[in-house]
Amino acid sequence: MAVNKKEEKLCPVAKKCGGCRYLDVPYDEQLRKKQKQTEKLLGRYGKVKAIIGMENPKHYRNKVHAVFDFDKRTGMVSGIYQEGTHQVVPVEECLIENLEADHIIQSIRRLAKSFKYKAYDEDTGYGLLRHVLIRTGYHSGEIMVVLVLASPILPSKNNFVKELCKLHPEITTIVVNVNDKKTSMVLGEKQQVIYGKGYIEDSLCEKLFKISPKSFYQVNPVQTEKLYGQAVAYAELTGKESVIDAYCGIGTIGIAASDKAAKVIGVELNPDAVRDAVVNARKNGIKNIDFYQNDAGKFMLQLAEAKESVDVVFMDPPRSGSSEAFLDAVIALKPSRVVYISCNPETMARDLQYLLQKEKKYKVEELTPVDMFPFTECVEVCGLIRLQKEKRQEHGNRKDGNRRERNTGNRNRGKRNTK
Ligand code: SAH
Repeated sequence: MAVNKKEEKLCPVAKKCGGCRYLDVPYDEQLRKKQKQTEKLLGRYGKVKAIIGMENPKHYRNKVHAVFDFDKRTGMVSGIYQEGTHQVVPVEECLIENLEADHIIQSIRRLAKSFKYKAYDEDTGYGLLRHVLIRTGYHSGEIMVVLVLASPILPSKNNFVKELCKLHPEITTIVVNVNDKKTSMVLGEKQQVIYGKGYIEDSLCEKLFKISPKSFYQVNPVQTEKLYGQAVAYAELTGKESVIDAYCGIGTIGIAASDKAAKVIGVELNPDAVRDAVVNARKNGIKNIDFYQNDAGKFMLQLAEAKESVDVVFMDPPRSGSSEAFLDAVIALKPSRVVYISCNPETMARDLQYLLQKEKKYKVEELTPVDMFPFTECVEVCGLIRLQKEKRQEHGNRKDGNRRERNTGNRNRGKRNTK
């Protein structure tokens, strides 16, 4: 990424990181660019409303990740991979990350030195500390530290916990995750809670959520409330609807909508997230929601085969978008409204193209971009796709209705006659 002097001052690692492509762009201008980008990619499908921006667009990320690396001079650095490489670029503070989390990472690095923990070396496989992942609760203030190690033992574990919590009493839980594979994935399979309850809780849309180390949770809590608010408004729920929350993660959208629906079914692939979702429903005293661990496409096809009646589908797939199997099942189930939430307008455009082409009765009514990722090029979009009532069928129904009336009339007359 090409950066100028001003950008280098705003962030010394801007060039190597490449995350904040709008680093030097005034926030209003960032929003205008994202509006245009959404219109360009999705405008042909439906009306694009004004983007929902942030009041304070800095330090919004509630999840912070750093990778450790050996450094000849200081012993250890922590930071990010240089764009497109496995070179670690040291980071002290980041414009978009939660600052408390950044400070905790600095402390872990300093403590690691005194505890003689070595950074893991990808080439030789030598060393212990691989990554650290920090999750912060925006409303609750709870903080979870996940230390990713190359082997299961953290020497002098209790002392380390004591020292770290002394420096940062705001930490509520620490988890050791073991990743002993040669992989670019951050988290490994096994984990052990070494302090606190092993997860954090946070509230969102007036509901409480349990968030485990491996579950997906939106990274911008302020904007997530606005995004979900828009998604639930698009669903036009009256309390009678049967609703699907597809790609539901820990159940956030379905739980936020459950008060206004008759029944909600959530489906999600990640078993940890599904377990969290079940706990979250219980925690909030919600009885009209069920969660299933499955591929969303396969699950929807099963519902379609069982001829389930579905009124509203929320779909919030990962960046790669949805699948044709999923969209085919939507067409078979014929919900009145589909609320599509996307973190990648390109795959959303592809999916809309497929859906609208295959079922002409679906029309995109409105699209609202939401700025979930200030300073980056990414934009989130929430769209309402509505099943149009078919004019001919309506006409036909009216005819049928008339016929029925006539028949009723005849029957009545007949009945009357027979009386
Ligand atoms: N709606 C949630 C999660 C959205 S992220 C929220 O707002 O927090 C997308 C989710 O889709 C992730 O939790 C991911 O695990 C899940 N996912 C990815 N592929 C999937 C698939 N094929 N079927 C079901 N869920 C999937």
